[in-house]
Amino acid sequence: MFENLSDRLDSVFKKLKGHGTLNEKNIDDGLKQVRMALLEADVNYKVAKSVISDIKERALGQEVMQSLTPGQQVIKIVNDEFTRMMGSEHQGLNFDGSSLGSIMLIGLQGSGKTTTAGKLALYLRKEGRKPFLVPVDVYRPAAIDQLKKIGQQLDVPVFESTTEMKPLKICQDALLAAREQGCDTLLLDTAGRLHLDEELMAELKGIKQGINPSEILLVADAMTGQDAVNIAGSFDKALDLDGVVLTKMDGDARGGAALSIKAVTGKPLKFIGVGEKSTALEAFHPDRMASRILG
Ligand code: GDP
Repeated sequence: MFENLSDRLDSVFKKLKGHGTLNEKNIDDGLKQVRMALLEADVNYKVAKSVISDIKERALGQEVMQSLTPGQQVIKIVNDEFTRMMGSEHQGLNFDGSSLGSIMLIGLQGSGKTTTAGKLALYLRKEGRKPFLVPVDVYRPAAIDQLKKIGQQLDVPVFESTTEMKPLKICQDALLAAREQGCDTLLLDTAGRLHLDEELMAELKGIKQGINPSEILLVADAMTGQDAVNIAGSFDKALDLDGVVLTKMDGDARGGAALSIKAVTGKPLKFIGVGEKSTALEAFHPDRMASRILG
């Protein structure tokens, strides 16, 4: 694994004993280490560059606090900056007070959409809502079966989609069925592809226009690093996301994707997936992710 940033900075700053001032020279040395750590943690290089220049501005001329070493102080500045960039506080789901809410889950195949649909169903039920799972991937019968199975396991109703139905029609019919069954929150598990393509985007745009969902959440795989950032940028441009769920954060992804996705799209990360089980969903907390990125 990587050398801890704190150790690296301590060795850079060890010459600066006592309580000197952070000056141009020692900050540049320290920020070189920060930059390396950011790139290793999968932070997009453009984002890393702008973070470094912001941090430098804030750090220059700061008195080194009595309680911290210069290295610790730089880490604190970096940490504060990351937290600020990622939105400071956890942002929850937004239902605009409507009685029938819908969450459209979008993302590439394998990103964890279907698994996340189950996780969110469980989360919403704990919040006192009545979720309704809706398989919208009519191109892969296995995806429909997978969601049905998850529904059975969690005892959450699942709309009876078939591969002959049109995706938009499924969503429209599911709205009526949810109401009939006393459910108040639809989780639309839309189709994914291995790569982004026009046809998929057109289908997703059609669903968005047709049913005006309360939330469009992108499900992105943290393990794919920079690809996740590019994918988030493209989906956001086409569909104007409300937020992002970053999955597979139980792996060794350092979380640079979280920082970069927020910087590129401006959209909040709302949850992280931390395992395959339905309970493995956590609210996204910018401060915790900042510490993780720094290692
Ligand atoms: P979809 O094609 O986007 O619907 O993706 P799936 O929900 O089928 O997930 C693809 C694979 O990723 C499955 O093997 C899931 O168990 C796994 N997966 C999903 N989310 C997570 C997560 O947060 N952590 C881990 N370790 N695996 C996950």
